[in-house]
Amino acid sequence: MNIAFNALLRLYEQQEVEIQSAIERVLKSGHYILGPEVLAFEAALANFFSTNKEHIVSCNSGTDALILSLKALNVSPGDEVICVSHTAIPTIVAIRAVGATPVFIDIDPNTWVMNLEEAKTKINSKTKAIIAVHLYGNMVNIPGKDFLGVPILEDVAQAMGSTLRGQHAGLIGKLGAFSFYPTKNIGALGDAGAVAANNHESAEPVRMLRNYGQKDRYNALLEGGLNSRLDELQAAILSVRLKLIHRWNAEKKSTVDFYRKELASIPLRFQKITEGCEPAWHLCVIALENLMQRDPLQKHLSEKGVQCLIHYPIPTHQQKAFSPFCKEELPHTESLAHSILSLPLYPGLTEQEKRHVVESIKSFF
Ligand SMILES: *Cc1c(COP(=O)(O)O)cnc(C)c1O
Repeated sequence: MNIAFNALLRLYEQQEVEIQSAIERVLKSGHYILGPEVLAFEAALANFFSTNKEHIVSCNSGTDALILSLKALNVSPGDEVICVSHTAIPTIVAIRAVGATPVFIDIDPNTWVMNLEEAKTKINSKTKAIIAVHLYGNMVNIPGKDFLGVPILEDVAQAMGSTLRGQHAGLIGKLGAFSFYPTKNIGALGDAGAVAANNHESAEPVRMLRNYGQKDRYNALLEGGLNSRLDELQAAILSVRLKLIHRWNAEKKSTVDFYRKELASIPLRFQKITEGCEPAWHLCVIALENLMQRDPLQKHLSEKGVQCLIHYPIPTHQQKAFSPFCKEELPHTESLAHSILSLPLYPGLTEQEKRHVVESIKSFF
């Protein structure tokens, strides 16, 4: 049996006819940028979040969603942004893209995400934002729009559909940045992203910044604008995809529940779910009690036809590009990076395949 880490073609095949007719509709519309499809997708997203459609701004990628958000929060060169190192590289890329300095803090050793208590000692007059990364689907326990007066930007690239105390990830902080990269909970057939705001004033600058800083055509109000528009084709595809988000998130949850139950007696740990959080899982990550076993287990699984990946093998503060910004050790982050392995997790994974993943892990121990 061969189980790929992702099976994007399987996802496409679930909606092949509908996606093709959406594409055809856009091609024949003669309208390709910021047209009715983008408006319809933003409205559908707003509907999913039970929020106002004026509060959703689609854009070109999750990275751009973060950059546009930081710009809208007036984060400028020399400012500091508090973040964790245990995240995807683009989180840190966005901080550097606006010229700010990432201030790294360690993760909680159990939930594997930021513990805001750790941010307290790092807050000073230069601190302009905190990026709360809801990793793998689990959420940072954020209190609301800000923490000790510092605005919170949620990186929701991996947690679309997760909730904390009944509130949607991405709509709790001042702004939320979503990615629709093809492997994410809802993926485009290319790059795409969005920003969610909880009011009109916060959404407006993002909407201008994604379109050269213009309020309307030929009327540039804001400096620092980008061309980061979602195109009509991806918007039309995403509207089709969004119809399945509940089903897909539920299917993945049942797979994660299965893995957790079947592997309960194996010497490995799962991510502890933050209190009050209902995760919409993006990844199912295990952490080996004995980190010397991680690479041999990955090799063993590969020989059994089970492809696993590591998210992420080198923490961002140890990446060549960002290491100048961190002089401290981050022990929980560093040890987790050596002990984790991500298991195949996607809608359409069959019972037989899930069982094979579990049996292959058991056969290693
Ligand atoms: C995927 C991802 C991003 C970036 O999204 P893109 O759409 O690929 O630009 C940012 N942050 C996290 C945590 C991600 O997983």
